[in-house]
Amino acid sequence: MRILLVEDDELLGDGLRTGLIQYGYTVDWLKDGLAADQALRTENFDVVVLDLGLPKLSGITVLQQLRSRGQTTPVLILTARESIEDRVKGLDSGADDYLTKPFDLDELCARMRALQRRSTTRAEPTLIHENIVLDPAAHSVKFHGELVNVSRREFALLQKLLENAGRVLSREHLAQSLYGWGEDVDSNALEVHIHNLRKKFGQEFIHTIRGIGYMIDKSKDEK
Ligand code: CA
Repeated sequence: MRILLVEDDELLGDGLRTGLIQYGYTVDWLKDGLAADQALRTENFDVVVLDLGLPKLSGITVLQQLRSRGQTTPVLILTARESIEDRVKGLDSGADDYLTKPFDLDELCARMRALQRRSTTRAEPTLIHENIVLDPAAHSVKFHGELVNVSRREFALLQKLLENAGRVLSREHLAQSLYGWGEDVDSNALEVHIHNLRKKFGQEFIHTIRGIGYMIDKSKDEK
């Protein structure tokens, strides 16, 4: 799951970024509203964690512009405890949830999972596909009832594919959801992860769509 974190407070931003990476998320951290606005116009994120008091462009403006472009990316805003007005304005401008500072990292992660679930119109906390059960909260994957070891990237890739079963995902979109900016990415890294997932869950499981990307079929009971 790729998160855009927008926070100008160095200490808080750094702590959040480090914590979220430990939880297995891919995190891109920006420190002003203008940079966030530009990133949101060109890149795919699963959730945006947005501070409202930002230099260059306010968080509210970033949010309003995102929604005015018709983008439905879930947004969680961060506000000061005393500012009820900010929270109301944020929610009215298209935020999906909020947290007041200071907050607990566990709560932030739980709320992001809930947002991600809602954005994929999924009520169940776990993703079930044929004999695969992926649990985002426990960060575990079971295949035929047995726990399977997967790397952080494999987990993220598998989650993305399962959430989009029946849809073709472009290589670019998948790579973006796996890697943040400034990370060294081997040009065939994505293929390597796909190869490993096929080894663990079956060769037929992920289809290669030539020249475009990859997809998995919808579960039989979903068809
Ligand atoms: Ca701020």
